[in-house]
Amino acid sequence: MAQFLQSVDKRSALVGFGVGVLLVLFVVLAVRGFVGRETYISLDVDASEPDISVQLLDVNEYSRPGTGSDPITGVVIHYTANPGSTAQQNRDYFNSLQDGHGDYVSSHFVVGLEGEIVQCVPTWELAYASNDRNHDTVSIECCHPDETGEFNEATYKSMVQLTAFICAKYNLDENDVIRHYDVTGKNCPKYFVEDGDAWEQFKKDVKGALAKGNGK
Ligand SMILES: [Zn+2]
Repeated sequence: MAQFLQSVDKRSALVGFGVGVLLVLFVVLAVRGFVGRETYISLDVDASEPDISVQLLDVNEYSRPGTGSDPITGVVIHYTANPGSTAQQNRDYFNSLQDGHGDYVSSHFVVGLEGEIVQCVPTWELAYASNDRNHDTVSIECCHPDETGEFNEATYKSMVQLTAFICAKYNLDENDVIRHYDVTGKNCPKYFVEDGDAWEQFKKDVKGALAKGNGK
């Protein structure tokens, strides 16, 4: 009897050990899965037209020359390099350049910290954002909370949807989406230059949004 009890104890100890190992495995896998997806979990974005606040700049030589673009062949992603600034502030800065600060800077769109989108220049006109590719691309400036340049989830989602929407509109795909870095070698957008995996993920998310279509 004592021997029998002892073997039952051994068996339950073994079972207990097995359950413990499984639990640890489960926790490790769950944490890895969570971290691996970074902050952008379950991205529910398609290529439909996002809400856009159209606030076109005054036509002026510094930020909206009023020059027609060539046929659009790409989308260029930028970051503002001004942590914590809003889409509205960046748009208003571009518009203020007409007073002759000497800088030639603008962007077709600015995506803000809450995912809001402001349009500054019509897509059929030049904006001053992407150097040699100003003439045939649409530019998107993206706001970021801090010096790392990483985008928050609200900004990221709007970036994906707006990029997919523009791609669909001009019959482009995710391979036509480039970083400012790919034009000039500038560290812009910082987070997507310094983290190549995050950049590849962004393009995958644009592809995924395109595959979902325009939601109609
Ligand atoms: Zn840039």
